[in-house]
Amino acid sequence: MAIRTVVWGENVHEQKNKVVAGIYPKGMHTCIADALNSDPGITATTATLQEPEHGLPVARLAETDVLVWWGHAAHGDVKDQIVERVAEAVWSGMGLIVLHSGHFSKIFKRLMGAPCNLTWREAGERERLWVTSRHHPIAQGLPEHFELEQEEMYGEPFGVPDPMETVFVSWFQGGEVFRSGLTYKRGAGSVFYFRPGHETYPTYHDANVQLVIRNAVKWAYNASPRVQNVTSAPNVPVEVALEPIVERGPRLHHAGEEGFR
Ligand code: ZN
Repeated sequence: MAIRTVVWGENVHEQKNKVVAGIYPKGMHTCIADALNSDPGITATTATLQEPEHGLPVARLAETDVLVWWGHAAHGDVKDQIVERVAEAVWSGMGLIVLHSGHFSKIFKRLMGAPCNLTWREAGERERLWVTSRHHPIAQGLPEHFELEQEEMYGEPFGVPDPMETVFVSWFQGGEVFRSGLTYKRGAGSVFYFRPGHETYPTYHDANVQLVIRNAVKWAYNASPRVQNVTSAPNVPVEVALEPIVERGPRLHHAGEEGFR
């Protein structure tokens, strides 16, 4: 069965900025979904901020293998309840790919537990991405390096936890460097952050960028069933302990009582 992928787009700049609308007339999310759908192993649909529940109701997330996230101007408009829902889906096994300015999205900061800040400059610089993990599945089919003629600069230090793997490092014309492809595990879910994708440049039309995102969807796909009740914290009664035990000493909670959160 094909990997069920949802491309979530904030869909704000496309509606308000003529440059962005010109590059992505159907929206950035649709451009990315089209690139994913060129692979028979992936079935991609889209969801946007403006839809009810931001297009991510519980039932849809339950049938989503990998979620791709692009946001920028409206991070603050994403409801906390939906952010928590997505986090729980990741912890229970859903893959998540966070793109570009999604470094400041609520969901990425929630999962990283860090500021996720960086330095930046919007000057149409050339970006050169170097593959730093040659046999990584996300780098399959790529040259040792590739260029994007115009991109926004993101520079170190990038305020994220140390990743499992660094798949790409970027160099920019102005001299800065950036860890532009990072993998994480959060609960049972695989998370990949990929840097390129400033909305005023045609980055998501680039063949190498599209290949990275397709590879990342396949890498993040988890064939195992979702972990159930991933946030539950049961108070296990004495009687069902695996070895017989006798209760002793004082205690705070009654048998079977819920703990504090
Ligand atoms: Zn940007």
